[in-house]
Amino acid sequence: MYDIIYIGGGLNYAGAIMAAKKGLKVALIEKDMKQLGGVCLHKGCIPSKMLLHYALTAHQSKNPMFEGSISLNMKTLVAKKDKLIASATKAVTSQCKDIDLIEGEGIIKEAYKVSVKDRVYEAKHIVIGTGSSPYIPKGIDYDAQNIITSDEVLNLQKLPKEICIYGVGAIGLEMASFFASNGVKVRLLSRGEGLQKKAHALIQKEMKTQLEYMDIHLLQNHNIIKAVSKSNEVIISLENQDDIHTPMLLVCSGRKPNLSVIQTKEIKIEKGITTNEYFESSLKDHYAIGDCNAKLQLAHAARAEVINVTQKILGKRVPVLDLSTVVQFIHTLPMSVASIGQTPSDTQDLCEGVVKLNAFSASNFHEAKNGVMIVYTDKDKKIVGAEILAPDAEELIAPIAMALAGEMDTGLASKTIMAHPSFAEALERVYFRI
Ligand SMILES: Cc1cc2nc3c(=O)[nH]c(=O)nc-3n(C[C@H](O)[C@H](O)[C@H](O)COP(=O)(O)OP(=O)(O)OC[C@H]3O[C@@H](n4cnc5c(N)ncnc54)[C@H](O)[C@@H]3O)c2cc1C
Repeated sequence: MYDIIYIGGGLNYAGAIMAAKKGLKVALIEKDMKQLGGVCLHKGCIPSKMLLHYALTAHQSKNPMFEGSISLNMKTLVAKKDKLIASATKAVTSQCKDIDLIEGEGIIKEAYKVSVKDRVYEAKHIVIGTGSSPYIPKGIDYDAQNIITSDEVLNLQKLPKEICIYGVGAIGLEMASFFASNGVKVRLLSRGEGLQKKAHALIQKEMKTQLEYMDIHLLQNHNIIKAVSKSNEVIISLENQDDIHTPMLLVCSGRKPNLSVIQTKEIKIEKGITTNEYFESSLKDHYAIGDCNAKLQLAHAARAEVINVTQKILGKRVPVLDLSTVVQFIHTLPMSVASIGQTPSDTQDLCEGVVKLNAFSASNFHEAKNGVMIVYTDKDKKIVGAEILAPDAEELIAPIAMALAGEMDTGLASKTIMAHPSFAEALERVYFRI
C-alpha cells in the first residue's frame, strides 16, 4: 500500500520528490521511463526554447550591420539538445531515488487501485498527471515525415525550403518564428480570422505587424479539410480555397488531454479530467494535475498544481491556487508576448495604462519599435493584470506578477526606479498613465 501513486512522469515528478522527501511511501508510474520529465523536458518547453534561442542569432545575423551569413546546423543543434535532455533526465531520475519508479501504462479501473500490465498497485491517494498529445484534425493524414506535429519538429535534421503551419496558437506562432528566422518560407494557416483574439486590440495588431516583419504569410480563413503526403510533397485541400502544395505541413491545432488512464465512471471527464479548486476529481483522494485536467496547458501551472496537491495530502493548509495569476506567454521572435491576471477579455471594468516601446531609443536596436506594455488596475488603482509585447516579455512581466501577488497599487509599484536603458523603464511610466 502506497501513500501516493503518481501516474505520469511529467511535472508529477516534482510532487513525488516532495512527498518522498517527507517520508511518504511513493510510486511514480510512467509509460516510458526514457520520457521521465514529460513533454516539457523532452518535446516541449526546453527543446523549443533552445531552438528559438539559436534561431534568434540566425535572424539577427541578417541585419545589414553584419557581413556574411549564418545558418543553423540542425544536426549539431539537435545533437546538443538531445545531450542536454539526457543529462536533465538523469538529474530528475537521481532525485527519484526514494521513489518506486514503475514503467508501464497506468490504468484506474476502480478506486485506490492502478493496474500496470498484469499487476495492481494500491494507494491512499492517486495523482493523475498524464499530460496531453497533439490533436490532429480529421482529414489530415499524419505520417510523421512530411505531415508532422510538435513531436517531430524539434528533431528535424534539415530545414525544409518552405513549410505550412496549421494553427495560430502558442506552438504554431513560435514555430513560425523559428522557421522564418532561418530563412524558411512560412505560410501560417489559420481556420478563422484574427490572432490571439483575447489579447488587447493593440497587441493583436502589433503581433500581425511582427508576422509581416518576419515575412511570415498569415493565411486566414484557411480551413484544412484534407491533407495527404504524396511523393515528397503534401497536398492540402482547403474549404473554399485552392489547394496548397508544400514540402512540409506542421500541424499545431492544439493538444488533447491523455485520458485512457481513466476506465471508471467514478472519475468524471469533460474537456479533461474534471477537478475542483483543489484539483480533486469526482472521486475522493484521486487528483488530476497539469494538461490532463485541461485547465492551463503550461508546465509552470502543472508544477504549481502538483505541489499544491502534494502539500494538501501532506496535511498542510494550502490556499486555493489562483490560476488567473499564472503568467502565460508565447515566445515569438524578435518580441514575445506575455500576459497575467485580468484583461479586458475578462471584464470591461478595468482602467488601463499603455506605453509604447518606441518611446525608448533602445527599441531601435532591439527590434522592439512595435512593442507595447499595458497594465490594468481596478478603480482603486490596484494592479490586476498586464499584457506585454516586448523582447523576452515573459521575463519583463515578472515584477508585475509579484505586484499582483503582493496586491500592490500603482502608487506603491511606481516607487521602484528601474535600470536605464531597459524596457523595465516602461513599467515606471505605465503606472503614471492609469
Ligand atoms: C512544443 C511545445 C512547447 C511548449 N512550450 C512551453 C513553454 O515554453 N512553457 C510552458 O510552460 N509550457 C510549454 N509547453 C506545455 C508543457 O510542455 C505542458 O504544459 C507540460 O508538459 C504539461 O505537463 P504534465 O505533467 O501535465 O504532462 P506531460 O509533460 O505531458 O507528462 C505526462 C507524462 O505522462 C505519461 N503518461 C501518459 N499516460 C500515461 C499512463 N496512462 N500511464 C503512465 N504514464 C502515462 C507520458 O508518457 C508523459 O511522460 C509546450 C508544449 C509543447 C508541445
